[in-house]
Amino acid sequence: MVKHKNEIDEKLIYLFNKISQIIRYIQWEINKETKLSPLMLQILEYLSNNSRELRTPHKIAEDLGVKRPTVTDSLKVLVKRGYVKEKLSEEDRRYKILSLTKKGEDLLKREELNLKEILKDSVDSLSNKEKENLFISLIKFISDLNHRGLLPVVRVCLNCENFEKNKFNDPDKPHYCRFLNIRMGDYDLSVNCEKNTFVNK
Ligand code: SF4
Repeated sequence: MVKHKNEIDEKLIYLFNKISQIIRYIQWEINKETKLSPLMLQILEYLSNNSRELRTPHKIAEDLGVKRPTVTDSLKVLVKRGYVKEKLSEEDRRYKILSLTKKGEDLLKREELNLKEILKDSVDSLSNKEKENLFISLIKFISDLNHRGLLPVVRVCLNCENFEKNKFNDPDKPHYCRFLNIRMGDYDLSVNCEKNTFVNK
């Protein structure tokens, strides 16, 4: 039994490594053409996936787990090269809100360089049940990495104080979000929620 467990663990770690190869490959391909660093690409992805309130230099540094001056330097290059634009926040003029320019959006949209496009067909090849199981396993896995301090910011329900697991005796929607006042099934769990309390403390 222990031997079996170790074998599965090792195989899983090997498979995660393989998936990370795809990300490195895309970063390498984009770098060959644009000379943007992996951090700059992460910033572009971040800006494309997050709402206005989260698109500040401070939030980017927090989310990516890097120092603020490092993000500032990368942003200067991205703005200068026309991938990102900045605007002062209307609510608080001390803050800059960042967005992708058309050039930034076009770069991320290119099929051969877009992780979503590359993975889409493989995700589609899974049955609904397989997708659901994978989703639950990954959300637990990512949440654990976050609790161990290896992923700095993860806005998932599992680490949120608003989340009440298995509050209801309802197999379809057993969980509850106090903030939104909604019942949730396993597959309704948020993966990037702005109201997550773990990161808003
Ligand atoms: S506030 Fe967001 S992260 Fe927290 S439980 Fe509700 S949906 Fe999930």
